[in-house]
Amino acid sequence: MERIIEIEKMELEEAEEVSLRPSGWDDYIGQEKIKRNLGVFIEAAKRRGEGLDHILFFGPPGLGKTTLAHIISHEMGANIKVTTAPMIEKAGDLAAILTNLSEGDILFIDEIHRLSASIEEILYPAMEDFRLDIIIGSGPAAQTVKIDLPRFTLIGATTRAGMISKPLRERFGMSFWMQFYNIEELSQIITLASIKLKKRCLLESAKEIARRSRGTPRVALRLLRRVRDFAEVANEEEIKIEQARYALHELGVNDYGFDDLDLRYLRILVQNKGRPVGLGTIAAAMSEDEGTIEDVVEPYLLAHGYLERTARGRVATRQTYELFSLPFESNATLF
Ligand code: ADP
Repeated sequence: MERIIEIEKMELEEAEEVSLRPSGWDDYIGQEKIKRNLGVFIEAAKRRGEGLDHILFFGPPGLGKTTLAHIISHEMGANIKVTTAPMIEKAGDLAAILTNLSEGDILFIDEIHRLSASIEEILYPAMEDFRLDIIIGSGPAAQTVKIDLPRFTLIGATTRAGMISKPLRERFGMSFWMQFYNIEELSQIITLASIKLKKRCLLESAKEIARRSRGTPRVALRLLRRVRDFAEVANEEEIKIEQARYALHELGVNDYGFDDLDLRYLRILVQNKGRPVGLGTIAAAMSEDEGTIEDVVEPYLLAHGYLERTARGRVATRQTYELFSLPFESNATLF
């Protein structure tokens, strides 16, 4: 019973996330360099009356890769088909998707590093020559059938830059690295979303939420929805600072915006007193998989100077020790 309630709640949250998704450049905050470059490429492609080159986005979850793909399709006046690599298991799955596209359509594949090698092989000629090579039969009687495809744009998104194969990576005309968002940008995202949610968040409150959002819009919006619930129950017209602080405290969100996973990770490093720790050891100690730690936990900690990656493993920085009010311990001289 509880599961069903949880699932319904999740679907509701996902639906709300989609309704909060910016539909154009104006409410897509931050990532200025990416926006500038994409704007130029879109304009140039439109002037030439051609489709866009294939695009690859790298970056941790929740930073706005899917949203960008939607905005690009909107700007190009193109249809978008959204899928994720684990859903493309067989050659037939990909063939069905590709043959159903129309001229100029955008195909968005999330988690593209998870495509199998055999599926990637089919994707290469489709990306390069807009051609599908299908092998029918097996052994000496096998025949290759070539099918022409409409000119489409593939937009790939991945959280694991290191896991995407070189040949696939090289077939994208443009690649972009997503950046974590600063407090100002997150405050703006929160303020705009709060207006859409009809519970206006005052600037000070937006900043308070922003500070604790791990530089990630998805986290900021999730916190905003929870804070809004508290404001609603308290019959507040607007989200005031006291309300925001109280709600965040009740939700157990740390002042630095670290979540439980971050803190457990950092504690392991600090407990090792400056000795480098391997990813496998950390994953085992946390009972989490290495992928989650590399994709979700480490990028934010690295970007904010709480972690260093050395050839021998991960080490905490001076800042990390300060976070736990502990004296700095460094074994750097030993290695
Ligand atoms: P990703 O694909 O990188 O996991 P999404 O594109 O799904 O991330 O973004 C998560 C949510 O955060 C979206 O629903 C969107 O509302 C919000 N969001 C992401 N980036 C921005 C941005 N730059 N400006 C405003 N909202 C954003």
